[in-house]
Amino acid sequence: MATKTIFEKSVKNRKGYTLPKCKIDNEVKKIFPANLLRSDAPRIPEVSELDTVRHYIELSDKNHFIEKGFYPLGSCTMKYNPKINDIVNVLTGFTDIHPMQPEDTIQGALQVMYELQQDLAEISGMRALSLQPVAGAHGEFTGVNIIYNYHKNKGRHRTKIIMPDSSHGTNPATSALHGMEVIEIKSNDDGKVDIKAVEEVLSDDIAGFMLTNPNTLGVFETDVQEIAELIHSVDGLMYMDGANLNAMLGYLRPGNMGFDIVHFNLHKTFSTPHGGGGPGAGGIGVSEKLVEYLPIPVVRKKEYVYYLDYDVKHSIGKVHSYFGNFLVMLRAYIYLKMLGDIGLKRVAENAVINSNYLMAKLRSEYPVPYQKNIMHEFVACGEKFKEYGVRTLDIAKRLLDYGFHAPTIYFPLIVHEALMIEPTETESKETLDNFAQVMLKIAKEAKDNSQLLKDAPQNTPVTRLDETNAIKNLNIKYNFEA
Ligand SMILES: *Cc1c(COP(=O)(O)O)cnc(C)c1O
Repeated sequence: MATKTIFEKSVKNRKGYTLPKCKIDNEVKKIFPANLLRSDAPRIPEVSELDTVRHYIELSDKNHFIEKGFYPLGSCTMKYNPKINDIVNVLTGFTDIHPMQPEDTIQGALQVMYELQQDLAEISGMRALSLQPVAGAHGEFTGVNIIYNYHKNKGRHRTKIIMPDSSHGTNPATSALHGMEVIEIKSNDDGKVDIKAVEEVLSDDIAGFMLTNPNTLGVFETDVQEIAELIHSVDGLMYMDGANLNAMLGYLRPGNMGFDIVHFNLHKTFSTPHGGGGPGAGGIGVSEKLVEYLPIPVVRKKEYVYYLDYDVKHSIGKVHSYFGNFLVMLRAYIYLKMLGDIGLKRVAENAVINSNYLMAKLRSEYPVPYQKNIMHEFVACGEKFKEYGVRTLDIAKRLLDYGFHAPTIYFPLIVHEALMIEPTETESKETLDNFAQVMLKIAKEAKDNSQLLKDAPQNTPVTRLDETNAIKNLNIKYNFEA
C-alpha cells in the first residue's frame, strides 16, 4: 500500500539518461572559485527512465482529478475541461511572448483579451470589462475597491456593504479586508434574500449590496430587481458574485437584473483545471456608470489595431502585474468560441438538469431543506445520521473509498451538517446514477454498520489526518541518514 519514495527505488549506478562527457570540465574549474564547486556527487536517485515515469504515474493516480472520477464539489464547478484548451495553450505564439513587448508585436494576445472582454460583456450584459484580477476573491476585492471609490469620487465616505447569510466566505472576507463593514441579513424560508430585511438595514450610507446568484444554496434569487431598486434609491451599488454563472449562461444576464459589477470565475465557468491552487482568473464587468473606474490598462481596439489604454479617468490603478493570468483567459476564449451561443445555453440547461435529477434521487435519504428554484447545485442536510453517531464528515470520507471526490461539506453555514453537491454539466446520467446509488448505500451503512464510516477512508494512501496540522507541517522530507 505505502508507496516507496523515489530515493528508496534508487539502485547504485543505474542510469536513466546518459549525457555526453563534459569537455570543459577543466575550464569550469578555472572559472568558478573552489568553494562554489561540489566535491561529492549530488544525492539524486539513480533510477531508469521507465521506473521514473512509473513512479510519477503511480503518484498522480493517488490523487483525485476530473479525468479519474466524479468530482461533485459544491460551488467549485469541477467540470471536465476539453483538451483542445491545453493544446492551444502551449503554442509558442502564446508561450514565447512577454507582456513588456511593444504592443504592435503582441496584437494576437491583445485580440484574445479584447474579444474575450466583448464576449463576456455580451454574456453578462455589462458595459465594459477588466480581466486583470486573478481569482474570484480578487475580483471581489477589485469590485469593492471600485464601490468605495465611486462614493469617494462623489465626496462621501461609505463603508457599509449588505450581504445575505448564505454568502460565500470570500464575500465578507474581501469586503472586510478593504475596510468595509459587513451587514449580514438573514435569508427567508425559501433560502432567498428577505426583501424586508434589506429595507430594515437600508440607509443613505450604504455603499452597496453583494449577492451570489444563484446563491450558495443553489437557489435562484428571484427578487434581484426589487433589491436593486432599493439599493439604487440610496445610490448604492449592486455587486454580483458570478462564480455560479454556469447556471444561467445564455438565459439570464446580471446586467439586465440591475447589477453594477459582476465577477467571473473564468476557471470555473469557462474551464481551466483548478482545485490544486493553480492559476485562476476573476475578471470583472461593470455597468455604464463605473466604466471610468476600471483597473488600467484597458485593452481597446481602434480600427484594426489593439492597444492598451492607461487613460482611464477614475481608475483604481493596477490590481495585478501586467494583464493577470493570460493563459487562463486563453482557455476561456477557446472554450467560448467552441461552444458558441447555442452551446452556452446547453451548458446552463445541463448544469440545472443534472443537479435537479441528482437531488430527486437523493432527497429520500438526504433531506434538502431548500428545494424551490434549485439551479446548478443543491445542499443536503446530514443531520439525521447523528442518531447513528455519524456525521457529514464521515459520509464524505466514506465516498473516497468508492472512488468519488467528496462534496463540499459544512457550507453554507445555514444548513446543518451540510453536503453541498454540484454535479456540473459535463456528467452523464450513468455517472449520476452511479453516484446516487453509492450515496444511498452509504446511508444504509450509516444505519447498519456506522463503524465502516467512522473508519473510512480505507482505500486511500493516508486515512484521517489532523487536517490543520497536515497542511501546516508537511511531512515530505526524505531522511537521508535513515
Ligand atoms: C469559488 C467561489 C468564490 C471565490 O473564487 P476564487 O477564485 O476561489 O477566489 C467566490 N464565490 C463563490 C460563490 C465561489 O463559488
